[in-house]
Amino acid sequence: MANDNLTAILYGINDIRLEQTPIEEPDQDEVLIQMACVGICGSDVHYLVNGRIGDFVVRKPMIIGHESSGVVVKLGKNVKNLKVGDRVAIEPGVSCRTCKFCKEGRYNLCKDMIFCATPPVHGNLRRFYKHAADFCFKLPDNVTLAEGALLEPLSVGVHACKRANIGISSKVLILGAGPIGLLSLLVAKAMGASRVVITDLSQSRLDLAKKLGADATLLVKKEDAESHILKRIIELVGEEPDKTIDACGAQSMIRLAILATRSGGVAVLVGMGAPEVQIPLMNALVREVDIRGVFRYANDYADALNLLATEKIDVKPLITHNYKLEDTVQAFETSKSGQADVVKVMIHCN
Ligand code: NAD
Ligand code: ZN
Repeated sequence: MANDNLTAILYGINDIRLEQTPIEEPDQDEVLIQMACVGICGSDVHYLVNGRIGDFVVRKPMIIGHESSGVVVKLGKNVKNLKVGDRVAIEPGVSCRTCKFCKEGRYNLCKDMIFCATPPVHGNLRRFYKHAADFCFKLPDNVTLAEGALLEPLSVGVHACKRANIGISSKVLILGAGPIGLLSLLVAKAMGASRVVITDLSQSRLDLAKKLGADATLLVKKEDAESHILKRIIELVGEEPDKTIDACGAQSMIRLAILATRSGGVAVLVGMGAPEVQIPLMNALVREVDIRGVFRYANDYADALNLLATEKIDVKPLITHNYKLEDTVQAFETSKSGQADVVKVMIHCN
């Protein structure tokens, strides 16, 4: 292994530079990883374009990237769960492991979470990166490193579907057919949903949803009346959906998530939009529609990996573009272009 550790660093708005950084030594409970694949997430693009997401502000140069996989090249002295040469998916958030939330198994809520590429924490779009061994998941031979990187958004989908309590015969509505909505669709089907209807503003994304197994799709326009979309959703689902997942974050869709869900059903909110939105809260209250938030994932990586290893779902069609680490700037240009054919852009680090 040479000393080449080419690294993608976000310096500020629309300013990503490729520079060499030192290869770090793994601590006793860590492994050094030769990075393989890093997917570009909407949040990475958001930091690039706006320099912040809410209160998380890029104040000093930050290494970008968090949807990732690689090959273990060095072990810290206490590491027993991995070997050199293991191909792993990297769960990018390392929690404290001792607080109330961590002990309850809801470690995504840990206040001391260290999460890749959430400022000020560095991400892992580089040739070599060290990570806590217990947050690395060995990939079986039939799961590729690119799929390993997709475990990150897939775990969001798994967490959302678990929070929705999707099961046999669930009728599910998904709002938004970006990577998160599409992956939630795959998981909902794998969990037994009998019918999944998905909406988006983009016909090409809906076409992909159809290929991935959506039972029906609904193209919406921003100017469509709420009552019109609601009527179409109920026609396409066949009745009011039991579970709705908002994977878009627009106020109009969050409102629909509540209004469309049947009385006693669950509306899960994954999409992140404006910090405050106007919603029909009384409607949810009198119909006992549970509104549940989703923040990333907790104990979902293994389940997401299991779905891939047992070939219950195929996430590969989501990867529409591939770039080398050297071409990171171009990769981000593609990701933020909004071109109809772009879904998931994957960067290959070695
Ligand atoms: P994305 O932007 O690729 O997908 C969003 C989709 O929603 C797009 O296809 C877009 O066309 C569609 N859309 C936008 N406005 C719409 C509208 N008014 N009506 C219908 N469709 C509309 O993003 P993604 O990567 O799939 O992520 C989806 C959302 O989930 C984002 O808001 C993201 O920030 C959020 N997210 C949340 C978590 C979490 O932990 N809660 C994790 C990952 C992503
Ligand atoms: Zn904790």
